[in-house]
Amino acid sequence: MSASPTPSWTLMIHGGAGVLTRETVSAATDAAARAGLDAALTAGEAVLAAGGAALDAVEAAVRVLEDDPTFNSGRGAVLTYDGGIELDAAIMDGRTRAAGAVAGVTRSRHPVTLARAVMEHSPHVLLAGKGADVFATEQGVEQADPDWFLTPARRAQLDAMKADPDNWFDVDMKYGTVGAVAIDTHGHVAAATSTGGVTAKRWGRVGDSPLIGAGTHADDRSCAVSATGSGEFFIRIGVGHEIGARIRFTGEDLQTAADTVLGEVQALGGTGGVIVTGPKGDAAWSFTTPGMFRGRADAAGTRHVAIYGDEA
Ligand code: ASP
Repeated sequence: MSASPTPSWTLMIHGGAGVLTRETVSAATDAAARAGLDAALTAGEAVLAAGGAALDAVEAAVRVLEDDPTFNSGRGAVLTYDGGIELDAAIMDGRTRAAGAVAGVTRSRHPVTLARAVMEHSPHVLLAGKGADVFATEQGVEQADPDWFLTPARRAQLDAMKADPDNWFDVDMKYGTVGAVAIDTHGHVAAATSTGGVTAKRWGRVGDSPLIGAGTHADDRSCAVSATGSGEFFIRIGVGHEIGARIRFTGEDLQTAADTVLGEVQALGGTGGVIVTGPKGDAAWSFTTPGMFRGRADAAGTRHVAIYGDEA
């Protein structure tokens, strides 16, 4: 995508990458996803258009997607092998490179807000499991019953996965992780990502989303990145940091850096996508799957959601 003429605000969001084609996505899901992406853009752009911080905008956009059962985060997250919910999220502020993340939390309605609490109210970057749930209650982060998160569609997905024990991962990954990246009118970037991970995960499996430098990264010197895809490969490449490093050290533009690093992921056997915003107001998305739920809004009046690979 081309650079904006001025370093004004830009917001990019995603709702997961995967085998998303007009044949595999129902008309109902197509419509629900576009409406959900649109609502998330509205929440984020309200912050940015008022001169607010990129950090607040990415949190606001992700919170909307976490409440939307169409996407794999918060309500409607995929289920673990045991039929439970284990949520991962991260947030990073490009201005200071402060970051917070949680892995395997079970009761926070908005894991991205819990990640922000880790960043702002603890000396740590990543909290996991039971301890992170305790921290959430201590911080007064809104908690929800298991019923809030669980949807019949995810239950059916888990049952289908378990019927095929050779299938370690939901290779169809139709409805993924959510994320947002932004640059604000002050020239700062931020990134946030939230996910239920992969269907039927077990043994405390954690993907790339809550790992700073892998699925989530923000640095005013280069860019903000939120990723979605086969997390094991994104971790090994350090996708978010790698894209930023290429921009800093080689002077590559965002699109080239994103395409190149996703190519590296693909060479190892992984697929997925990224959204990227840079400190000059430039922005890019890239994916190696047939589609990615995605959206963009900016100060120049762009307002755009898309799903399939052949859409702009
Ligand atoms: N990257 C996520 C994970 O591996 C999954 C996804 O993006 O769909 O947990």
